[in-house]
Amino acid sequence: MKIVNYSVEGTVDYGFLVDKSEFVPRYFIEEVLREKIPRDIKRLLPDTELRELIKASLESVKLERVPLSSVHIEPPLKDPRKIICIALNYRDHAEEVGSKIPEEIVFFLKPPTTLIGPFDSIIKPGIAEKIDYEGELAVIIGERAKEVDSSEAMLYVFGYTVFNDVTARDLQFRDGLWRGWTMSKCFDTFAPTGPWIVSADEIEDPHNLRIITRVNKDIRQNSNTSNMIFKIPDIISYLSKIMTLEPGDIIATGTPAGIGYTREDWLLKEGDIVEVWIEKIGAIRNQLVSTK
Ligand code: MG
Repeated sequence: MKIVNYSVEGTVDYGFLVDKSEFVPRYFIEEVLREKIPRDIKRLLPDTELRELIKASLESVKLERVPLSSVHIEPPLKDPRKIICIALNYRDHAEEVGSKIPEEIVFFLKPPTTLIGPFDSIIKPGIAEKIDYEGELAVIIGERAKEVDSSEAMLYVFGYTVFNDVTARDLQFRDGLWRGWTMSKCFDTFAPTGPWIVSADEIEDPHNLRIITRVNKDIRQNSNTSNMIFKIPDIISYLSKIMTLEPGDIIATGTPAGIGYTREDWLLKEGDIVEVWIEKIGAIRNQLVSTK
C-alpha cells in the first residue's frame, strides 16, 4: 500500500496509489466500503483491519482514479506528533564531518513546521547562508511503542518515506554549543518529505535500499541503507525507552557521505534543485528559493 497525501485548492486529504501516476482518493473507497475511513492518516495507520479492507477493495473493485498531476502532493504527514532524526548513522558521513563513530545513538528533533511536500520549495532563511542537504530514509511509526525490545521493534513500523534533513551549516557549528545544532535544522521548509508512504510489507529489507542524492542532476550522495551503523530495530527500541513513539511519528535514520559541509562549492545555491531518491520508494525534488 502506498498512501499519498494531497491537496486541492487548500483542502487536504489522502488516497492510495494504484500506479505511478494515479491514485484512488480516500472518500471514493469510503463510499464503496460504506465504512468510515478517518481523515487523519495517523488514525488509519494502527487500524490493521480497516487497512486490509481498503487493500482488498483496491485489488478487487473498479474504483475511480485521479491523476497525481491534477493535485498538489503534500508531505505524507502534515502534523506528526514528532520528527526524530538520527545523527551520524553512516560511518563515511561521520568521517567526513570529522566526528568519531558514535558508540550510542545520537538523535535530535525537528518541529512539524519544517515539513514540506516532495516538490515544494525550500525557503532560504534570512539569517542563514550555508544551506546543505542530507538525503535520508525515514521510518513511519504505525503503532504506539513504549519500551519495546529490538526483536519486536519492526512490528511497530508502518512504512517508509524519503526525507531531506536540510541544515544551515553556518549556524550548526557557529559557537560549539548544542544551540546551533537545533537552530540549524528547525527552519520552516527544512524537511522535504515524500512522495508517499510505502507500507512495510512492500519493502522486503529496509536495510538494503539504494539511496542517491543529486543536485542539479549531479550525484552527491550514493549509498545503501545497509551502511547504517545503528539499524532500525535498535533505533526504535532505543527511542521507545526515552519517549513513547506514536502512530505517524517520523524517524529519519541519518545521512550517508557526500554533503556540502566539507566542500563549500557543494552547498546549495538559490535556484538549485536537490533530489533524494530511494529504491522502492521514489524521489523528492525541491528547489532552494529566497523570499528576499
Ligand atoms: Mg540528518
